[in-house]
Amino acid sequence: MSTRALLMIPGPVECDPEVLAAAGAQSDSHLGPPMTAAVCRVLRNLREVFQTHSAQPFVLAGSGTLALECGIANLVEPGDRVLVVNTGYFSERAALIAERYGCQVQQVRARLGRIPSLEAVEDALTGGRFKLVCITQVDTSTGALAPVEEICRAASQRGALTLVDAVCATGGEALRQDSWNVDVVVTASQKALAVPSGLAIVSASERALEVHKARRNPVGSFYCDWANWLPVFQGYARGEPRYFATPPVNLFHALDVSLQQILAEGVELRFQRHREMAKALRAAWRALRLEPVMAAEQEQANTLSALYYPEGLELTLIDRIRDEGVIVAGGLLPEIKGRYFRVGHMGNLRESEVLAAAAAIGHALVRAGQGVDPAAAVAAAEEVIGKEESAAPETVASEWTIH
Ligand SMILES: *Cc1c(COP(=O)(O)O)cnc(C)c1O
Repeated sequence: MSTRALLMIPGPVECDPEVLAAAGAQSDSHLGPPMTAAVCRVLRNLREVFQTHSAQPFVLAGSGTLALECGIANLVEPGDRVLVVNTGYFSERAALIAERYGCQVQQVRARLGRIPSLEAVEDALTGGRFKLVCITQVDTSTGALAPVEEICRAASQRGALTLVDAVCATGGEALRQDSWNVDVVVTASQKALAVPSGLAIVSASERALEVHKARRNPVGSFYCDWANWLPVFQGYARGEPRYFATPPVNLFHALDVSLQQILAEGVELRFQRHREMAKALRAAWRALRLEPVMAAEQEQANTLSALYYPEGLELTLIDRIRDEGVIVAGGLLPEIKGRYFRVGHMGNLRESEVLAAAAAIGHALVRAGQGVDPAAAVAAAEEVIGKEESAAPETVASEWTIH
């Protein structure tokens, strides 16, 4: 019997064996035909995942933080005004990066457990001429899901550029880059895209590329500068690979395999599956009397849950859950870091794993002396999944076949 535990942290996540095989194979030349074909497919398939016809994807060796830095660094110049819609730790990071590049940063905040209201964001937008508005689609520190479409509409109506940190969302939460006016989406390989960590992914709209082209000052980061990467990715797309810095060949092949799997599932059905799993787990958390950090269900992410520990279990619950075969993560938001834990439910997770997680966490709570019923939690989750299975996926107005 395998003793390997089920990895349910908010990234890295469990990967498909075919994805892992690609990551573990002998590298080929980064300028040879197999890599060229893989990069071409990756660029095309990323557009489909981001639901954009015209945006330019960039895929760099690095983590999600580099993707965030790359997006911000290419758009801003010293003295620019940036508005950050703060929903947690990673929004704070966006603000820190923008400050590092010399921007004047203003943040819209809400009290813990809520996200800033659209009115508060609109008021801030009206009060200042912002070049860029940064939104974290899913803040992995709080489990907050931001209303990206509404905020981006408000921002672009006032002429601001929009940047969405979708690191913990892409491949799990719906995002429609073109129709939602998202100028830059940033993400990474190791979360809902279900690839090992190591790829920073940025998708820049035509408007974002124009703003970059019209800069008065060079981009503050040499490695991140789109001017260095644009000829590379445009070259690969024409079948003429170009070198700027050696790409992580194996991770490209792994991403290539995963994106093909994602499109084979269908992005809409994949978003639907994430909504369904999250809803089932919320039912399990209620049955186990676990309180989410985010108070309102419509503000809770579908890719992870952030849950307060029952009193007295702050130091032991994660280890007990590990003993039951599931690895979850601790807290991250400084204000409440030691008071809550996080369960990732994104990527390739299926019904059986959702139910296993509900059971494992239930059993860990019982062992810790809580009077809860794990079987009732599993049954509550199962009932949701059974009901949702027959429901049709959310219909989408636009056509999403890119040729
Ligand atoms: C994980 C995460 C990041 C940071 O990604 P790293 O790969 O750890 O650098 C940034 N933003 C969000 C929303 C994330 O979930």
